[in-house]
Amino acid sequence: MNSRRSFLHRLTAATIAFPLLSLDEWTTAPAGNSDGQPYDGPVLRVAIMGLGSYGNRVAEAMQSCKKAKLVGVISGTPAKIKAWQTKYSIPEKNCYNYENFDNIKNNPDIDAVYVITPNALHHDQAIRVAKAGKHVICEKPMALNEKEGREMVEACKKANVKLLVGYRMHFEPKTLEVINMRKNGDFGKVLFFQGLCGFRIGDPTQWRLNKQLAGGGSLMDIGIYAINGARYMTGEEPIWVTAEETKTDTVKFKEGVDETIQFQLGFPSGAVASCLSTYNMNNLDRFFLNGTSGFAEMQPSTGYGPIKGRTHKGELTHPHITHQTVQMDEMAGIILEGKQAPVPVDGEEGVKDLKIIDAIYAACKTGKKIELK
Ligand code: NDP
Repeated sequence: MNSRRSFLHRLTAATIAFPLLSLDEWTTAPAGNSDGQPYDGPVLRVAIMGLGSYGNRVAEAMQSCKKAKLVGVISGTPAKIKAWQTKYSIPEKNCYNYENFDNIKNNPDIDAVYVITPNALHHDQAIRVAKAGKHVICEKPMALNEKEGREMVEACKKANVKLLVGYRMHFEPKTLEVINMRKNGDFGKVLFFQGLCGFRIGDPTQWRLNKQLAGGGSLMDIGIYAINGARYMTGEEPIWVTAEETKTDTVKFKEGVDETIQFQLGFPSGAVASCLSTYNMNNLDRFFLNGTSGFAEMQPSTGYGPIKGRTHKGELTHPHITHQTVQMDEMAGIILEGKQAPVPVDGEEGVKDLKIIDAIYAACKTGKKIELK
């Protein structure tokens, strides 16, 4: 087998190796060992909304899913719809645009819509999907602020559909291994977390640098990984926030689009987090957790992988899996079988991050320490 084929083979085997497991089972499951069973259980039939860069990645990854299947598209670009129909055998009756997708309510062949559009569109689109009676999977950041997030949670509750957020790291085996170690007390009392998340952003005309579509800058896009990571690595919710913004390029990063933010979080136990979110530095994807009797460091910590890391006990050894394949199989289990995620991925979880984002922006603006209730 050539090296690319053998790599793909290993990847697929590793992906199949992680059926729907609890956190403990996840972190103790034998690595790279397929369950080898043909699957004839329920399958979540998913339409992807927004056929951009990440939508393409999710669609590719879903080809290896057992419990989730790509069956439809919602897009504003007819040429992309045609190309996806051909590539993924999507029937015409499962294709929609942004004007007519409310009609999805009359389509019994679609169970859920995965919203993968620019951030500012998530709120309205997710609520329309809920009103059409379909489950919602929404990319991060789930919305632009806590208020919007809560409205989405309410709309989904009212429509009796599930709302999940695309937190792929919540299913990543090395991440779960560290969380499990922390739960088992391996690090002793957790004292400190550091999260460094960033990349140097290119094209100045892209939506990520447009406040109207992005809702902010690096914090909404990449800094959210440090916020979310601080919460799942420490296992606590912050009670205060301080933050400072710095900007080196006011042409590229206009008013309301943050280039770099440093923020600190304080937790009820006394633990603190120190984080950096930026659109102006590459190779910034690092988590560090420190406790009275040990540490964990991960770098890369939130990229598509392989995630790498070690603790005071040695290297983290769980095999690489395709994040989006496992995420979608797990989400199918949550929606169809009522399974629990190893770390929550529901709308409430998304709202918790948005509340902290609101506080970080408020701290940058006022220069004050923001208390979180
Ligand atoms: P892209 O720009 O690559 O794709 C976004 C797609 O949204 C477009 O291709 C387009 O698809 C659709 N769209 C609808 N309205 C607009 C509009 N007004 N402007 C631009 N695009 C529009 O973005 P990404 O795929 O990188 O990001 C999409 C979402 O996914 C974001 O919320 C981002 O945060 C999240 N994301 C999550 C990642 C993760 O690891 N969890 C990684 C990357 C992104 P069409 O032509 O089909 O309508």
